[in-house]
Amino acid sequence: MREVHCKVCDAGTLRQRQVYRKSGSVVDFGYVLLAPSIPSVVICTLAYVTLHVGGSGATSAGVSEGVFLLLGVAAFVSGIIGWLLIMKKQILVCSVCSAVVEPKMTAHKAEADSAKLSH
Ligand SMILES: [Zn+2]
Repeated sequence: MREVHCKVCDAGTLRQRQVYRKSGSVVDFGYVLLAPSIPSVVICTLAYVTLHVGGSGATSAGVSEGVFLLLGVAAFVSGIIGWLLIMKKQILVCSVCSAVVEPKMTAHKAEADSAKLSH
């Protein structure tokens, strides 16, 4: 792995680290959304398939089929939101002064600068 020298203190090297994109309480909220949604999606999918396959076309079966489908979609959406909240990002942290650099942002900036130059 190549080492990058810190531009802030000029003494340390930058090391890759994974951190949460959001702050602690938001990440907790994300886990609360994500954790129950996985079994909910599985249960609703199973219930929907069971009713759909075994359904005799009765109105009550059709209604509960729709309810399970809606619940399954809602659980799936909340799971995606939760997953987005707990996503991690790669940052570079200096071992000496703890300066934080976001590698993607610097890459984007370099791209934008080179694009400007080419014009
Ligand atoms: Zn430093």
